[in-house]
Amino acid sequence: METILNNELIWFASEDFNHADQPYLPPLLSESFAKWRSEAAQITASEEGYFILVDDCGRRHGVSGNTSSFQLEQGDLNILLQSVISEAIREGSPAVRSHGEFKVMAVPLLKRTEDAVFAVFLYAAPQHTSMTEATIQACAMHYRSCFYYIFEQIYMKAIIEQEERMVREARRGEALLIASRKMYNQNDVSSVLSELLKGVEILYESSEAHLYLSQDHVHGDPRVHPLVFDVMAHDIIAEAFLNEKPVIEPYANGQLAIAVPLTGKQAAYGILKILIASDNWNDSDLHIIRLFADTAGSAFENAKLYEQSNMLIKELRLINEMTKRLNQSLSLKEIFQFATNELLLIFQADYCCILQLSKESDSFEVKASNVPMLVKTKFAIEYGFSGIVYRTKEPLIISDYMNSSAVSSTLMDNTDSRSLIAAPIFVEGEVIGVILIAHRIANYFSYENYKLLQVISTHVGLAIANASLHAEVRRMVITDNLTGLHARHYLNEQIVNKQRYDSCGSLILADIDLFKQINDTFGHLIGDEILVQVSSIIQTAIRSGDIAARWGGEELAIYLPKIGIEQARVIAERIRDQVSSKTNPRVTVSCGVSEWQSTHEKISVESLFYRADMALYDAKHKGRNRIVVAAE
Ligand code: GH3
Ligand code: MG
Ligand code: MG
Repeated sequence: METILNNELIWFASEDFNHADQPYLPPLLSESFAKWRSEAAQITASEEGYFILVDDCGRRHGVSGNTSSFQLEQGDLNILLQSVISEAIREGSPAVRSHGEFKVMAVPLLKRTEDAVFAVFLYAAPQHTSMTEATIQACAMHYRSCFYYIFEQIYMKAIIEQEERMVREARRGEALLIASRKMYNQNDVSSVLSELLKGVEILYESSEAHLYLSQDHVHGDPRVHPLVFDVMAHDIIAEAFLNEKPVIEPYANGQLAIAVPLTGKQAAYGILKILIASDNWNDSDLHIIRLFADTAGSAFENAKLYEQSNMLIKELRLINEMTKRLNQSLSLKEIFQFATNELLLIFQADYCCILQLSKESDSFEVKASNVPMLVKTKFAIEYGFSGIVYRTKEPLIISDYMNSSAVSSTLMDNTDSRSLIAAPIFVEGEVIGVILIAHRIANYFSYENYKLLQVISTHVGLAIANASLHAEVRRMVITDNLTGLHARHYLNEQIVNKQRYDSCGSLILADIDLFKQINDTFGHLIGDEILVQVSSIIQTAIRSGDIAARWGGEELAIYLPKIGIEQARVIAERIRDQVSSKTNPRVTVSCGVSEWQSTHEKISVESLFYRADMALYDAKHKGRNRIVVAAE
């Protein structure tokens, strides 16, 4: 009957009593002994005795006994064993002892590379055993080859494992390099993020990566999220972000959750979170993933800076271009229309609306818009978003009109818009208008858009001020101060123009009769007042396309485009009649009327005036307060 004893007994103790520096040795010894025992079962079964394996510290690692006649723990045998083990180790050669009824043989087992004993193979048997020393030595040698066989197997396994690890690390290193290079090759933030996520997939197959960004970023990938802190919740993302350190913790289904900050030179931009199977993760991977996240952080930062500087350049160019074009136009209508078109393009917006404040009606009027129904609509000054901008004198941004019930807005309601940016237009520190820009998608406009609109609205304000100033100067230039009628040069220019395109027209020259006497009788101030009275009678007697001007002194001229001489005479007659009945002190006028037609041989402003003047002279001569029509 075979007996297997436990292996804990120590017969012999060397100074250093353990194998701390060779932790693989004890299992190797017992495993190889078990192998030997199974291979040598026939030999060991035939004889009564114990085969024992002891290491160089005297610790027992294997015992195989086929005996019932004695126990190893017997005192005499124990002493015998100790001395024979010591001798075998000391001498490095087999030792045989007999004592009383026992016989013991110890064969030292030498290492392959140096002349040192690593274990002792023993045989303890009754005195009369027939097992020869040669057989025992052969058994010891057999055991030794079992030992080296197992040793090599373990060794090979370790080497293969190490090689596999190296291959895996090299592959990850290479993937890291490729992914890093790809990230650095991108100059827009979205592509950097896409490459980052792709890189993680390549580095760790069947892992799941998510990005949590601290900055506003619109990215189509559902794995990119905004970084939101929930103070109460336990959150490895917040922890990693706040401490700027990676955090690893167990996750569901044997996975690990790893959160690594994406840090650039200037700031931390977010967190890369990876869910990965625990057995796919090695501690050395943390180094790789940190390296990767750092690279991503710098690439992100570079792309961000590149985008920002590009955007700045684009904005500057745009503002420059826009101001140039805005200032080319001196018509307010054109400015509003141009600004509307440009704003739609710049912001890629759906709708734009420019409102101007009308002080007289205390309202905002839509001056230009791509929503036709809104054009020329008037809104109460406090109404809607223009009302807010007017009150606060600040720009505003609405990310989702549907979820913000601040005010109601005709623009937003009628266009189903959800995003809005608005800015005041200032002229000399006063809000004179409001720009509204809308989009049907919620959260469409960025903070940069909002800032840019503010800058652009300043320039629109300047262009408006410029155009208004110009219009005022021009009005002054072409208007007579006293009468409010046009100036003579303006009338001349207009007639020259009309004679180019129209087929006919008439001119009335009106001169106040005996005006010198009026001045002499009532004084110059009253004389001036009479001039104003006559002028306003003329203005109400004519249509808006007609042009009335002060020709000089108390002579007034009226040009009637596309009007023939007979009709002109009727109009002159109406004027004459009203002057004589409505002026106070009463005056009368004499009029000379002339006409031109495209069929005439010679057409000129001078000839038109000359003939009217002649007719006027005629009227004076014939007794005043009358109309004379110039002959052909
Ligand atoms: P006639 O019927 O022949 O036109 O007589 P008249 O007195 O109107 O003719 P005349 O050309 O001799 O005098 C024109 C006068 O009109 C001379 C000038 O005192 C006066 N006059 C011209 N311009 C103004 C003005 O701007 N204001 C005033 N109060 N008087 C003016
Ligand atoms: Mg005169
Ligand atoms: Mg006169």
